Amino acid sequence: MSDSKQEIEVLLPPAVAYDEFKRYSAILSAAGLAPGEADFVHLRKRSIDARGRQPLVRLRADIYHTSPPAELFGPWFQYPDVRQAKRSVIIVGAGPAGLFAALRAIELGVRPIVVERGKDVRTRRRDLAALNKEHIVNPDSNYCFGEGGAGTYSDGKLYTRATKRGDVGRILRLLVQHGATPDILVDAHPHIGTNKLPLVVAALRDSIRQAGGEVRFDTRVTDLVLDKDHLRGIVTANGEAIEANAVILATGHSARDIYELLDRRGVLIEAKPFALGVRVEHQQQLIDQAQYRLPDRGQLPAASYSLVHQTQWQGRQRGVFSFCMCPGGFIVPAATAPGEVVVNGMSPSRRDSRFANSGIVAAIELEDMDLRRHGALAGLRLQEQIEQRACHLAGNTQLAPAQRLGDFLKKKTSSELLETSYQPGLVALSMDEVLGAGLAERLRQGFRNFGQKIPGYATNAAQIVGVESRTSSPVRIPRDRDTLEHPMVRGLFPCGEGAGYAGGIVSAAMDGERCAEAVLKSF
Ligand code: FAD
Repeated sequence: MSDSKQEIEVLLPPAVAYDEFKRYSAILSAAGLAPGEADFVHLRKRSIDARGRQPLVRLRADIYHTSPPAELFGPWFQYPDVRQAKRSVIIVGAGPAGLFAALRAIELGVRPIVVERGKDVRTRRRDLAALNKEHIVNPDSNYCFGEGGAGTYSDGKLYTRATKRGDVGRILRLLVQHGATPDILVDAHPHIGTNKLPLVVAALRDSIRQAGGEVRFDTRVTDLVLDKDHLRGIVTANGEAIEANAVILATGHSARDIYELLDRRGVLIEAKPFALGVRVEHQQQLIDQAQYRLPDRGQLPAASYSLVHQTQWQGRQRGVFSFCMCPGGFIVPAATAPGEVVVNGMSPSRRDSRFANSGIVAAIELEDMDLRRHGALAGLRLQEQIEQRACHLAGNTQLAPAQRLGDFLKKKTSSELLETSYQPGLVALSMDEVLGAGLAERLRQGFRNFGQKIPGYATNAAQIVGVESRTSSPVRIPRDRDTLEHPMVRGLFPCGEGAGYAGGIVSAAMDGERCAEAVLKSF
């Protein structure tokens, strides 16, 4: 504690913690102060403590006895005009990695040229409607491709375990400066929500353009301008060659054509472990009651969970774990090409849908892939094969294969499915047939264990929907640990989730920033 600032931690009932005035009074009273006895109360951290009989909200706050410092409020970032900059960088992909790379490049005085195969956020929405309602998959505009990348129509969960790989607070402040709720600076598990993300993404793009950077939509990269071992630029689908001092390749985990292109052009890529499985859907109320032990969650946020179990099958141990849990959310069709079925999850900012969904996936290691036959693309081929089988078995539309969880555990096809948040619709199938016996058996072991941890979890009150296959990239594009440049191709900076260096919005954004810094150092 300093004379001007007093730090305090309190545990409050939700009805007090989520009411601005009651919270303010409770914090001051815990500090022995009366209302009006402080200049300002700044909330620093908020988390739920559900270990006791009643869930409580843990708050950490700073009480200021003088005016609070200006840096609490922003704006934190300013962008110089880079129209006349001597150096430029091509950034392929306008996902979190690409957008944050572009903004960091601008801060460092380098002009970014962002090329994105998909459409701007607003126009992209029409293709998502066609996907959900008419089962039409546009290979350049879908839940993975388009402005903001895979992160736009997502849950917008912003927590990451990769805290050592960059400054998480910086990424969150940058998002707040571009329209995200300041709550994300406070919550232990911050999220933005799919209804708010498009506005934030559009504001990021506006900042890039206002500073003199370029952002081009409907511009798919189809080839590289390679001068022996030096990458000079890229070629787009309409035949235009664009050159720059360096290329940051941030195309995400679903740009299969980019992996094929690199492979074809002799640019070293490697097969990488990833994870594959299903999405499980419950009533949110069941998860709330299990996690909070209350009949009704009241003001508390929709409850989430994180589960993991080690499974054993044919002498190989593999982890089965929950992935990208979306409380109060929806299951969405995340295919990027016709002829495949892929599911993922998203949620609105209020997380108020009746459903809770989560990926439940098993680790796929290199020894589970046919490396001899497919080389670096072995994981990708396995992923593709299961996604196409799911589509074929479910009738060659975006209808997804589904099975009630209790039936899956008994290896019985469901005679009737439950109501779902997955808009294109479901078909009752055996998930063993869709995934193959080994993968299905691992998931069964996982679900049985999870049923022991969360009452009511592994029953016919839930159903599983296939397939959750785009958890992370099945390919790594190697890069030097220090320079972040490809070991064999100068001027190429593999970046973000698609290159194997991030998993999620925040880690991809941090990797984008690191790549922009590495590009500057390379000049
Ligand atoms: P991407 O976001 O995949 O962006 C890559 C971009 O490159 C795309 O816009 C694509 O169109 C473009 N591109 C690809 N190929 C080309 C080409 N040839 N030419 C030009 N452009 C190209 N993460 C979280 O942290 N929290 C969540 O709540 C969350 N929810 C998710 C929900 C869904 C439905 C999905 C699909 C993903 C979710 N994720 C979530 C994962 C997160 O979105 C990704 O980890 C993150 O977006 C990766 O960022 P990136 O920039 O590396 O790649």
